[in-house]
Amino acid sequence: MKKHNFSAGPCILPQSVLQKSADAVLNFNNSNLSLIEISHRSKDFVAVMDNARDLALEHLGLQNKGYQALFLQGGASLQFLMAAFNLLEKKAAYLNTGTWSNNAIKEAKLLGEVVEVATSKSDNFNFIPKNYNIPADADYFHCTSNNTIFGTQMQSFPETQIPMVCDMSSDIFSRQLDFSKFSLIYAGAQKNMGPAGTTLVVIKEDILGKVSRAIPSMLNYKVHIEKESMFNTPAVFPVYVSMLTLEWLKDLGGISAIEKVNNQKAELLYNEIDRNPLFEGFVPKKEDRSKMNATFNLKNDELKATFEDHIKQAGINGLNGHRSVGGYRASMYNALPLESVQVLVDVMQALEKGA
Ligand SMILES: *Cc1c(COP(=O)(O)O)cnc(C)c1O
Repeated sequence: MKKHNFSAGPCILPQSVLQKSADAVLNFNNSNLSLIEISHRSKDFVAVMDNARDLALEHLGLQNKGYQALFLQGGASLQFLMAAFNLLEKKAAYLNTGTWSNNAIKEAKLLGEVVEVATSKSDNFNFIPKNYNIPADADYFHCTSNNTIFGTQMQSFPETQIPMVCDMSSDIFSRQLDFSKFSLIYAGAQKNMGPAGTTLVVIKEDILGKVSRAIPSMLNYKVHIEKESMFNTPAVFPVYVSMLTLEWLKDLGGISAIEKVNNQKAELLYNEIDRNPLFEGFVPKKEDRSKMNATFNLKNDELKATFEDHIKQAGINGLNGHRSVGGYRASMYNALPLESVQVLVDVMQALEKGA
């Protein structure tokens, strides 16, 4: 039987998507050829790329609004550099909410001045800073919508006149937002969309072309836009699986439908963390808690072995916390069913009853 997969990333994907992906690896579109042994410039694959790009914009409500969707390589980590390469002329403003923000800041500093508008570092990133000032003369503002490692999530975004750039790797397509507030959104596929190996970049075209530096082709958003995400050989398999996941989401009713389920899952688990005297949450402020990654711990370390044995018995996978936080992290991405969260809650209750 399939495990209850709470892995933080690469993470659970819909079973129907895995089945269709496996079929396409053996025989793509009844061509008697594998998806991964045909030209990326073939009619069938170009259709996949176009469909994936269109679906991404459609889900985000950004069609015909001056945005382009790209499927690039190098992970979200390359976007830390690429965003700065294309947008940072003098100075950029960054909100530091954890490891990934910090890595983004590190790359941007190679190319210009970085103003850290606020940080939650003093409390091991267990909250989202609010009420900070964003300098109006910065080239852009960068934030991380969901902090995968610490389990915090931005529930609102600041109002600013400068372009807003957001790393949405671990909560893209999980909740409705006014995505048109953002000029650049990027997300590694392996958290909520597909296998590792491709990164979705959604960019408002009119913010490009404003820096004076020469940009190498592979790092240049304009080049990738012009070549329709096929400047070089794209990650054909990850793009195909991402396309299938976006189709799956559309069939379910889109972001608004999945958001309802995501809210139910988060409520079920956080209620248990708060109620069960054996556990404590890592993020104290309810409004800062991530609906994708719930971080928590046992109050009494002596129960660790028993709890972990119960977890294993129940067929639960991927619950270990990140080494910088410890404890447990339940990642509840789009494809994780509500029933899996119920299984985890049942294990927590059984532990309380001494079963
Ligand atoms: C996982 C993750 C990254 C790093 O992604 P890679 O694709 O491995 O480079 C960046 N940001 C966030 C928010 C993440 O969760």
